[in-house]
Amino acid sequence: MSTHHYSASKREIGAWCLYWARPDVILPPREASAAADLGTALHEGASEEAEPDFERFAELVASGDTSPESLAERYRLSAGAAKRLVDLVDAWRAWWPTYNGGRAWRAEVPFAFDGQTDTARELPSQGQRDYSAATDDELPGTVDQHVVDEHGAVILDLKTGRGPHRLADHVRQLEHGAVVLARMHGLDEVRIVVAHVTPDGVVVDERVLDAFDLEAAAQAMTAELARIPTAEPVDGTHCRWCPARGICPKTTALVAEVLPGALPERRLPLVGAVEDDETARAFIEGLPLLEAWVDDRWKQVRAYAERGAVPLGSGRVWGKVEKPGREKVDLEVKGAIDAINEALGPAAEVALEVETSKSAIERGVRKQLAGEGGGKRGDLGKRKEAILEALRKLGALKRGAPFTVFEAFERKAELPAAGGGT
Ligand code: SF4
Repeated sequence: MSTHHYSASKREIGAWCLYWARPDVILPPREASAAADLGTALHEGASEEAEPDFERFAELVASGDTSPESLAERYRLSAGAAKRLVDLVDAWRAWWPTYNGGRAWRAEVPFAFDGQTDTARELPSQGQRDYSAATDDELPGTVDQHVVDEHGAVILDLKTGRGPHRLADHVRQLEHGAVVLARMHGLDEVRIVVAHVTPDGVVVDERVLDAFDLEAAAQAMTAELARIPTAEPVDGTHCRWCPARGICPKTTALVAEVLPGALPERRLPLVGAVEDDETARAFIEGLPLLEAWVDDRWKQVRAYAERGAVPLGSGRVWGKVEKPGREKVDLEVKGAIDAINEALGPAAEVALEVETSKSAIERGVRKQLAGEGGGKRGDLGKRKEAILEALRKLGALKRGAPFTVFEAFERKAELPAAGGGT
Protein backbone atom coordinates (compact mmCIF):
# COMPACT_ATOMS: atom_id res chain seq x y z
CA MET A 1 0.00 0.00 0.00
CA SER A 2 1.36 3.37 -0.92
CA THR A 3 1.97 5.84 1.88
CA HIS A 4 2.51 8.92 -0.29
CA HIS A 5 -0.40 11.13 -1.38
CA TYR A 6 0.60 11.56 -5.00
CA SER A 7 -1.76 10.71 -7.85
CA ALA A 8 -2.04 11.58 -11.54
CA SER A 9 -4.67 14.28 -11.01
CA LYS A 10 -2.23 16.16 -8.74
CA ARG A 11 0.68 16.18 -11.19
CA GLU A 12 0.03 19.80 -12.15
CA ILE A 13 0.74 20.83 -8.53
CA GLY A 14 3.51 18.22 -8.34
CA ALA A 15 5.38 20.05 -11.09
CA TRP A 16 5.85 22.91 -8.61
CA CYS A 17 5.85 21.27 -5.22
CA LEU A 18 5.76 17.71 -3.88
CA TYR A 19 5.99 18.43 -0.15
CA TRP A 20 2.26 17.79 0.36
CA ALA A 21 2.64 14.30 -1.19
CA ARG A 22 5.16 13.14 1.42
CA PRO A 23 4.06 10.14 3.51
CA ASP A 24 4.81 12.04 6.75
CA VAL A 25 2.48 14.95 5.85
CA ILE A 26 -1.00 14.45 7.31
CA LEU A 27 -3.48 16.04 4.93
CA PRO A 28 -6.46 17.90 6.45
CA PRO A 29 -10.01 16.89 5.48
CA ARG A 30 -11.02 18.04 2.00
CA GLU A 31 -12.79 21.40 1.93
CA ALA A 32 -16.29 21.44 0.48
CA SER A 33 -17.17 23.66 -2.46
CA ALA A 34 -20.11 23.87 -4.82
CA ALA A 35 -17.94 22.83 -7.77
CA ALA A 36 -16.47 19.94 -5.82
CA ASP A 37 -19.94 18.79 -4.74
CA LEU A 38 -21.09 18.79 -8.34
CA GLY A 39 -18.03 16.85 -9.44
CA THR A 40 -18.47 14.42 -6.57
CA ALA A 41 -22.11 13.90 -7.50
CA LEU A 42 -21.14 13.09 -11.06
CA HIS A 43 -18.47 10.65 -9.93
CA GLU A 44 -20.57 9.08 -7.19
CA GLY A 45 -23.26 8.50 -9.75
CA ALA A 46 -20.65 6.62 -11.73
CA SER A 47 -19.22 4.50 -8.99
CA GLU A 48 -22.53 3.30 -7.58
CA GLU A 49 -23.01 0.92 -10.47
CA ALA A 50 -19.50 1.03 -11.95
CA GLU A 51 -20.82 2.81 -15.04
CA PRO A 52 -19.60 5.94 -16.74
CA ASP A 53 -20.45 8.98 -14.71
CA PHE A 54 -22.35 10.87 -17.40
CA GLU A 55 -24.03 7.72 -18.63
CA ARG A 56 -25.20 6.98 -15.13
CA PHE A 57 -26.66 10.44 -14.78
CA ALA A 58 -28.06 10.45 -18.28
CA GLU A 59 -30.04 7.36 -17.30
CA LEU A 60 -31.20 8.99 -14.10
CA VAL A 61 -32.26 12.17 -15.86
CA ALA A 62 -33.85 10.35 -18.79
CA SER A 63 -35.84 8.09 -16.46
CA GLY A 64 -38.08 11.07 -15.86
CA ASP A 65 -38.51 10.47 -12.15
CA THR A 66 -35.28 12.29 -11.35
CA SER A 67 -36.00 15.98 -11.20
CA PRO A 68 -33.38 18.59 -10.31
CA GLU A 69 -35.06 18.69 -6.89
CA SER A 70 -34.56 14.97 -6.22
CA LEU A 71 -31.00 15.14 -7.58
CA ALA A 72 -30.36 18.05 -5.23
CA GLU A 73 -31.60 16.03 -2.28
CA ARG A 74 -29.88 12.82 -3.29
CA TYR A 75 -26.46 14.41 -3.82
CA ARG A 76 -26.81 17.30 -1.34
CA LEU A 77 -26.55 19.91 -4.09
CA SER A 78 -27.99 23.40 -4.18
CA ALA A 79 -30.96 23.89 -6.52
CA GLY A 80 -28.68 25.78 -8.93
CA ALA A 81 -26.06 23.02 -8.91
CA ALA A 82 -28.72 20.35 -9.51
CA LYS A 83 -30.07 22.31 -12.49
CA ARG A 84 -26.52 22.66 -13.81
CA LEU A 85 -26.04 18.92 -13.36
CA VAL A 86 -29.06 18.22 -15.56
CA ASP A 87 -27.82 20.75 -18.16
CA LEU A 88 -24.38 19.13 -18.20
CA VAL A 89 -25.83 15.67 -18.61
CA ASP A 90 -28.02 16.90 -21.48
CA ALA A 91 -24.98 18.48 -23.16
CA TRP A 92 -22.93 15.32 -22.70
CA ARG A 93 -25.78 13.11 -23.97
CA ALA A 94 -26.08 15.16 -27.15
CA TRP A 95 -22.32 15.03 -27.76
CA TRP A 96 -21.13 11.57 -26.68
CA PRO A 97 -22.76 9.53 -29.49
CA THR A 98 -21.19 11.88 -32.02
CA TYR A 99 -17.72 11.33 -30.57
CA ASN A 100 -17.43 7.75 -29.27
CA GLY A 101 -17.47 6.11 -32.70
CA GLY A 102 -19.30 3.07 -31.33
CA ARG A 103 -16.07 1.84 -29.74
CA ALA A 104 -15.89 -0.20 -26.49
CA TRP A 105 -14.98 2.59 -24.07
CA ARG A 106 -14.33 1.85 -20.40
CA ALA A 107 -14.96 4.42 -17.71
CA GLU A 108 -13.54 5.35 -14.32
CA VAL A 109 -10.79 2.74 -14.33
CA PRO A 110 -8.00 3.16 -11.73
CA PHE A 111 -4.48 2.41 -12.98
CA ALA A 112 -0.96 2.67 -11.55
CA PHE A 113 2.38 3.35 -13.19
CA ASP A 114 5.40 1.76 -11.48
CA GLY A 115 8.40 4.08 -11.69
CA GLN A 116 10.88 1.36 -10.63
CA THR A 117 9.95 -1.24 -13.22
CA ASP A 118 8.52 1.07 -15.93
CA THR A 119 5.37 -1.08 -15.99
CA ALA A 120 1.70 -0.37 -15.39
CA ARG A 121 -1.37 -2.22 -14.18
CA GLU A 122 -5.05 -1.82 -13.54
CA LEU A 123 -5.67 -1.38 -9.82
CA PRO A 124 -8.24 -3.34 -7.86
CA SER A 125 -10.47 -0.70 -6.28
CA GLN A 126 -13.22 -0.59 -3.65
CA GLY A 127 -14.66 2.69 -4.91
CA GLN A 128 -13.98 6.06 -6.45
CA ARG A 129 -10.36 7.20 -6.09
CA ASP A 130 -9.48 4.17 -3.94
CA TYR A 131 -5.75 3.72 -4.51
CA SER A 132 -5.09 1.58 -1.45
CA ALA A 133 -3.74 -1.24 -3.64
CA ALA A 134 -0.95 0.95 -5.10
CA THR A 135 2.60 0.60 -3.76
CA ASP A 136 5.03 3.39 -2.85
CA ASP A 137 6.75 2.87 -6.21
CA GLU A 138 3.49 3.41 -8.07
CA LEU A 139 1.72 6.54 -9.21
CA PRO A 140 -2.04 5.86 -9.27
CA GLY A 141 -4.68 7.68 -11.26
CA THR A 142 -8.18 7.19 -12.60
CA VAL A 143 -8.97 7.57 -16.26
CA ASP A 144 -12.43 8.99 -16.93
CA GLN A 145 -12.86 7.22 -20.29
CA HIS A 146 -10.44 5.14 -22.33
CA VAL A 147 -10.45 2.76 -25.23
CA VAL A 148 -7.83 0.48 -26.78
CA ASP A 149 -8.71 -1.29 -30.02
CA GLU A 150 -7.57 -1.72 -33.61
CA HIS A 151 -8.14 1.99 -34.22
CA GLY A 152 -5.70 2.97 -31.49
CA ALA A 153 -5.74 4.06 -27.86
CA VAL A 154 -7.50 7.11 -26.45
CA ILE A 155 -7.45 8.63 -22.96
CA LEU A 156 -10.34 11.03 -22.42
CA ASP A 157 -10.76 13.30 -19.44
CA LEU A 158 -14.12 14.96 -18.78
CA LYS A 159 -14.05 18.39 -17.19
CA THR A 160 -17.11 20.13 -15.82
CA GLY A 161 -15.86 23.11 -13.80
CA ARG A 162 -15.43 26.69 -14.88
CA GLY A 163 -13.21 26.76 -17.95
CA PRO A 164 -11.61 27.15 -20.21
CA HIS A 165 -10.23 23.63 -19.81
CA ARG A 166 -7.61 23.15 -22.48
CA LEU A 167 -5.35 20.15 -22.95
CA ALA A 168 -2.28 22.15 -21.94
CA ASP A 169 -3.84 22.70 -18.49
CA HIS A 170 -4.25 18.98 -17.82
CA VAL A 171 -1.61 17.33 -19.95
CA ARG A 172 0.35 15.88 -17.02
CA GLN A 173 -2.68 14.03 -15.71
CA LEU A 174 -3.49 12.62 -19.14
CA GLU A 175 0.14 11.68 -19.78
CA HIS A 176 -0.17 9.27 -16.84
CA GLY A 177 -3.09 7.45 -18.45
CA ALA A 178 -1.33 7.44 -21.82
CA VAL A 179 1.87 5.94 -20.38
CA VAL A 180 -0.18 3.34 -18.52
CA LEU A 181 -1.94 2.21 -21.72
CA ALA A 182 1.31 2.31 -23.67
CA ARG A 183 3.13 0.11 -21.14
CA MET A 184 0.20 -2.31 -20.66
CA HIS A 185 -0.49 -2.77 -24.38
CA GLY A 186 2.95 -2.15 -25.92
CA LEU A 187 1.80 0.98 -27.77
CA ASP A 188 3.97 3.76 -29.12
CA GLU A 189 1.26 6.37 -29.50
CA VAL A 190 -1.83 7.34 -27.52
CA ARG A 191 -4.35 10.09 -28.19
CA ILE A 192 -5.15 12.28 -25.18
CA VAL A 193 -8.36 14.30 -25.05
CA VAL A 194 -9.86 16.89 -22.74
CA ALA A 195 -13.61 17.23 -23.19
CA HIS A 196 -14.98 20.23 -21.34
CA VAL A 197 -18.68 19.63 -20.74
CA THR A 198 -20.57 22.91 -20.38
CA PRO A 199 -24.31 23.56 -20.33
CA ASP A 200 -23.89 24.96 -23.86
CA GLY A 201 -22.02 22.01 -25.32
CA VAL A 202 -18.74 20.07 -25.17
CA VAL A 203 -15.42 21.66 -26.12
CA VAL A 204 -12.79 19.11 -27.21
CA ASP A 205 -9.02 19.63 -27.18
CA GLU A 206 -6.80 16.70 -28.18
CA ARG A 207 -3.42 15.58 -29.47
CA VAL A 208 -1.41 12.40 -30.01
CA LEU A 209 1.52 11.53 -27.74
CA ASP A 210 4.23 9.65 -29.66
CA ALA A 211 6.89 7.28 -28.31
CA PHE A 212 9.22 10.15 -27.39
CA ASP A 213 6.46 12.00 -25.52
CA LEU A 214 5.50 8.81 -23.67
CA GLU A 215 9.08 8.06 -22.68
CA ALA A 216 9.62 11.61 -21.42
CA ALA A 217 6.40 11.41 -19.38
CA ALA A 218 7.39 8.03 -17.89
CA GLN A 219 10.79 9.39 -16.85
CA ALA A 220 9.23 12.52 -15.38
CA MET A 221 6.80 10.45 -13.28
CA THR A 222 9.63 8.20 -12.07
CA ALA A 223 11.64 11.26 -11.01
CA GLU A 224 8.64 12.78 -9.22
CA LEU A 225 8.03 9.58 -7.23
CA ALA A 226 11.70 9.53 -6.23
CA ARG A 227 11.61 13.16 -5.05
CA ILE A 228 8.53 12.81 -2.80
CA PRO A 229 10.14 11.53 0.46
CA THR A 230 12.55 14.48 0.75
CA ALA A 231 10.52 17.18 -1.01
CA GLU A 232 10.49 20.60 0.66
CA PRO A 233 7.59 23.05 0.29
CA VAL A 234 7.82 25.43 -2.67
CA ASP A 235 5.08 28.03 -2.48
CA GLY A 236 3.41 29.96 -5.27
CA THR A 237 0.05 30.47 -6.91
CA HIS A 238 -0.28 26.69 -7.22
CA CYS A 239 -0.75 26.54 -3.40
CA ARG A 240 -4.43 27.45 -3.79
CA TRP A 241 -5.06 24.01 -5.31
CA CYS A 242 -2.93 22.14 -2.78
CA PRO A 243 -4.61 19.67 -0.39
CA ALA A 244 -2.06 20.63 2.30
CA ARG A 245 -2.45 24.40 2.09
CA GLY A 246 -4.18 24.58 5.48
CA ILE A 247 -1.26 22.96 7.32
CA CYS A 248 1.77 23.65 5.11
CA PRO A 249 4.67 25.44 6.84
CA LYS A 250 4.98 27.78 3.84
CA THR A 251 1.39 29.00 3.97
CA THR A 252 1.07 29.12 7.75
CA ALA A 253 4.52 30.35 8.80
CA LEU A 254 4.29 33.89 7.47
CA VAL A 255 1.91 35.20 10.09
CA ALA A 256 3.93 33.65 12.90
CA GLU A 257 6.98 35.43 11.48
CA VAL A 258 5.35 38.87 11.31
CA LEU A 259 4.05 38.53 14.86
CA PRO A 260 7.16 37.37 16.67
CA GLY A 261 6.36 36.32 20.20
CA ALA A 262 2.71 37.31 19.89
CA LEU A 263 1.40 33.86 19.15
CA PRO A 264 3.61 31.38 20.98
CA GLU A 265 3.31 27.88 19.65
CA ARG A 266 0.59 28.98 17.25
CA ARG A 267 0.43 29.58 13.53
CA LEU A 268 -2.33 31.24 11.59
CA PRO A 269 -3.28 29.37 8.42
CA LEU A 270 -3.19 31.88 5.57
CA VAL A 271 -5.44 29.78 3.37
CA GLY A 272 -7.99 27.02 3.90
CA ALA A 273 -11.23 26.85 5.85
CA VAL A 274 -11.82 27.38 9.56
CA GLU A 275 -13.17 24.03 10.60
CA ASP A 276 -12.10 23.41 14.20
CA ASP A 277 -11.98 25.21 17.57
CA GLU A 278 -8.20 25.41 17.58
CA THR A 279 -8.02 27.22 14.22
CA ALA A 280 -10.92 29.54 15.11
CA ARG A 281 -9.30 30.42 18.46
CA ALA A 282 -5.99 31.11 16.72
CA PHE A 283 -7.72 33.62 14.41
CA ILE A 284 -9.77 35.25 17.22
CA GLU A 285 -6.57 35.89 19.19
CA GLY A 286 -4.32 36.49 16.23
CA LEU A 287 -6.32 38.65 13.84
CA PRO A 288 -6.46 41.77 16.07
CA LEU A 289 -2.67 41.53 16.38
CA LEU A 290 -2.38 41.03 12.65
CA GLU A 291 -4.66 44.02 11.97
CA ALA A 292 -2.50 46.13 14.29
CA TRP A 293 0.55 44.90 12.42
CA VAL A 294 -1.05 45.81 9.07
CA ASP A 295 -1.92 49.30 10.39
CA ASP A 296 1.63 49.73 11.59
CA ARG A 297 3.06 48.55 8.26
CA TRP A 298 0.88 51.04 6.35
CA LYS A 299 2.03 53.76 8.73
CA GLN A 300 5.63 52.87 8.00
CA VAL A 301 5.03 52.72 4.24
CA ARG A 302 3.34 56.14 4.32
CA ALA A 303 6.20 57.55 6.39
CA TYR A 304 8.67 56.16 3.85
CA ALA A 305 6.66 57.62 0.95
CA GLU A 306 6.81 61.04 2.61
CA ARG A 307 10.41 61.14 1.39
CA GLY A 308 9.40 60.56 -2.21
CA ALA A 309 6.96 58.57 -4.31
CA VAL A 310 7.67 54.82 -4.53
CA PRO A 311 8.07 53.53 -8.12
CA LEU A 312 5.59 50.72 -8.98
CA GLY A 313 6.81 50.04 -12.50
CA SER A 314 5.26 50.85 -15.87
CA GLY A 315 5.61 54.56 -15.11
CA ARG A 316 3.35 54.45 -12.04
CA VAL A 317 4.27 55.59 -8.55
CA TRP A 318 2.68 55.41 -5.08
CA GLY A 319 2.97 58.46 -2.92
CA LYS A 320 1.48 61.51 -1.29
CA VAL A 321 -1.15 63.39 -3.29
CA GLU A 322 -2.72 66.61 -2.01
CA LYS A 323 -6.45 66.71 -2.77
CA PRO A 324 -8.90 69.57 -2.22
CA GLY A 325 -11.10 69.09 0.84
CA ARG A 326 -14.78 68.25 0.40
CA GLU A 327 -17.20 71.18 0.45
CA LYS A 328 -19.60 71.09 3.41
CA VAL A 329 -22.75 73.16 3.85
CA ASP A 330 -22.77 75.18 7.09
CA LEU A 331 -26.42 75.97 7.88
CA GLU A 332 -25.41 78.06 10.86
CA VAL A 333 -24.22 80.77 8.49
CA LYS A 334 -26.84 83.53 8.38
CA GLY A 335 -28.98 83.31 5.25
CA ALA A 336 -27.97 79.73 4.32
CA ILE A 337 -31.36 78.17 5.12
CA ASP A 338 -33.18 81.08 3.50
CA ALA A 339 -31.18 80.58 0.31
CA ILE A 340 -32.23 76.91 0.13
CA ASN A 341 -35.87 77.69 0.93
CA GLU A 342 -35.98 80.39 -1.69
CA ALA A 343 -34.44 78.19 -4.35
CA LEU A 344 -36.42 74.99 -3.65
CA GLY A 345 -39.71 76.21 -2.24
CA PRO A 346 -41.71 73.29 -0.69
CA ALA A 347 -39.03 70.81 -1.91
CA ALA A 348 -36.58 72.40 0.56
CA GLU A 349 -37.85 70.07 3.31
CA VAL A 350 -36.23 67.23 1.42
CA ALA A 351 -32.90 69.06 1.11
CA LEU A 352 -32.85 70.27 4.71
CA GLU A 353 -32.41 67.17 6.86
CA VAL A 354 -33.17 67.35 10.57
CA GLU A 355 -31.61 64.66 12.67
CA THR A 356 -30.34 64.07 16.18
CA SER A 357 -28.96 61.33 18.40
CA LYS A 358 -28.47 60.66 22.11
CA SER A 359 -24.95 61.99 21.94
CA ALA A 360 -26.08 65.10 20.01
CA ILE A 361 -28.72 65.71 22.70
CA GLU A 362 -26.01 65.35 25.34
CA ARG A 363 -23.89 67.91 23.49
CA GLY A 364 -26.91 70.24 23.46
CA VAL A 365 -27.39 69.82 27.23
CA ARG A 366 -23.70 70.51 27.82
CA LYS A 367 -23.98 73.72 25.79
CA GLN A 368 -27.10 74.72 27.70
CA LEU A 369 -25.43 74.10 31.07
CA ALA A 370 -22.34 76.00 29.97
CA GLY A 371 -24.58 78.97 29.25
CA GLU A 372 -25.92 78.67 32.81
CA GLY A 373 -22.49 78.66 34.42
CA GLY A 374 -22.00 74.88 34.34
CA GLY A 375 -24.99 73.70 36.40
CA LYS A 376 -24.81 71.35 39.38
CA ARG A 377 -23.34 67.87 39.62
CA GLY A 378 -25.78 65.39 38.05
CA ASP A 379 -27.61 68.04 36.01
CA LEU A 380 -26.22 66.70 32.74
CA GLY A 381 -27.63 63.22 33.28
CA LYS A 382 -30.96 64.44 34.65
CA ARG A 383 -31.65 66.87 31.83
CA LYS A 384 -30.60 64.40 29.20
CA GLU A 385 -32.84 61.68 30.69
CA ALA A 386 -35.75 64.18 30.94
CA ILE A 387 -35.48 64.92 27.23
CA LEU A 388 -35.26 61.22 26.36
CA GLU A 389 -38.27 60.47 28.58
CA ALA A 390 -40.28 63.21 26.86
CA LEU A 391 -39.35 61.74 23.48
CA ARG A 392 -40.24 58.26 24.76
CA LYS A 393 -43.72 59.45 25.75
CA LEU A 394 -44.18 60.95 22.32
CA GLY A 395 -43.21 57.62 20.75
CA ALA A 396 -40.24 59.40 19.17
CA LEU A 397 -37.61 57.14 20.74
CA LYS A 398 -37.59 53.97 18.71
CA ARG A 399 -35.47 50.87 19.07
CA GLY A 400 -33.88 49.50 15.89
CA ALA A 401 -34.14 45.90 14.77
CA PRO A 402 -32.06 43.42 16.81
CA PHE A 403 -28.62 42.81 15.36
CA THR A 404 -25.89 40.24 15.83
CA VAL A 405 -22.31 40.76 16.86
CA PHE A 406 -19.56 38.27 17.54
CA GLU A 407 -17.66 38.99 20.75
CA ALA A 408 -16.27 37.32 23.85
CA PHE A 409 -18.75 36.51 26.65
CA GLU A 410 -19.17 34.21 29.62
CA ARG A 411 -20.82 31.07 28.39
CA LYS A 412 -24.06 30.09 30.16
CA ALA A 413 -24.29 26.45 31.06
CA GLU A 414 -27.03 25.71 28.54
CA LEU A 415 -25.23 27.22 25.52
CA PRO A 416 -23.66 24.64 23.19
CA ALA A 417 -20.05 24.97 22.06
CA ALA A 418 -19.77 26.81 18.72
CA GLY A 419 -17.80 24.09 16.98
CA GLY A 420 -19.02 21.19 19.05
CA GLY A 421 -15.89 21.32 21.21
CA THR A 422 -15.40 22.54 24.75
S1 SF4 B 1 0.76 24.77 0.18
FE1 SF4 B 1 2.17 25.22 -1.51
S2 SF4 B 1 4.21 25.05 -0.61
FE2 SF4 B 1 2.80 24.03 0.77
S3 SF4 B 1 2.83 21.88 0.16
FE3 SF4 B 1 1.15 22.86 -0.93
S4 SF4 B 1 1.97 23.46 -2.90
FE4 SF4 B 1 3.71 23.07 -1.53
